[in-house]
Formats: sequence, structure tokens, C-alpha cells
Amino acid sequence: MKKDTCIFCKIANGEIPSRTVYEDADFRAILDLGPATKGHTLILPKEHAEDLYELPEEVAARVLPVAKKVAGLLKERLGCDGMNLVQNNGETAGQTVKHFHLHLIPRYVGDGQSILWKPTEPSAEELDGVWSALK
Ligand code: 5GP
Ligand code: ZN
Repeated sequence: MKKDTCIFCKIANGEIPSRTVYEDADFRAILDLGPATKGHTLILPKEHAEDLYELPEEVAARVLPVAKKVAGLLKERLGCDGMNLVQNNGETAGQTVKHFHLHLIPRYVGDGQSILWKPTEPSAEELDGVWSALK
């Protein structure tokens, strides 16, 4: 289902033009308007889902094969040196558009971007506490 108020629904379904680099029946991959690096691409499902939690399993199962295809295209045509896949869920995690999307961010030696986290140093007890909540 599309959501009338969702800009990525409109882009994914071709109602708003975009710089499409890949399209199939279920997905559209577009150039990001505020790219972190040259070729920064967003993979959008055509069906509306706010985030990973809402994404239907069958759509989730197809996202990575599409990402692999588009990543290969970006590497081949743009000659990037690396590739980050980023997917934000919730404002705390940096999600600004509430329609699931996967970022493909080509990386170039010396591009000045940083998509890394600061490692922390939890104790064994703290790690065990997290582990017991999850197992
Ligand atoms: P988020 O922060 O939600 O993970 O990422 C949203 C991304 O969408 C940002 O990188 C932003 O530059 C991009 N974006 C927002 N609006 C548009 C738009 O209308 N068209 C395109 N191509 N990208 C957009
Ligand atoms: Zn949507």
C-alpha cells in the first residue's frame, strides 16, 4: 500500500521524478539529493513501510539482493574504493524520512566522511546482562 502523505511513496512509484539508477516491480533506487559522497543512493520499496520493523518479510528478503546489484553498478561505474550500507530506524537513530530506505554510500580514499561509531568498553557483567535479556 502507498501512503498519500509520504514523499518516498510518491518517488518510489514514479509520481515525483527522481534520478533513478535501478528499478524493478518492487523497488526503486535513486540518487540521494544530499549525498554524503558521489553516488550516494537510496533503495526504496514501492510499498510503504515506515521502518525495518514494519517491513514485510518478503520485501526484507529482497532488499539485500537489490543492494548487491546496485552496489556492483556503483563500484563499476564510479570506481569507488569502498561501500557503506546504512539503514536508520527511528529519530534517535537518525531516520528523517519515515519510509524504509537503505543507504548505499560509496566510499573514496580521502572522501572525508565518517560512518563509524566509537567503541565502548563494557564489563563482562554488563555484556552478560545484555546477553541474558536476549537469549
Ligand atoms: P534518513 O536520515 O531518513 O536515513 O535519510 C533520508 C535521506 O533522504 C537523506 O540522506 C536525504 O538527503 C534524502 N532525501 C530526503 N528527501 C529527499 C528527496 O526528496 N529526494 C531524494 N532523492 N533524497 C531525499
Ligand atoms: Zn511511503
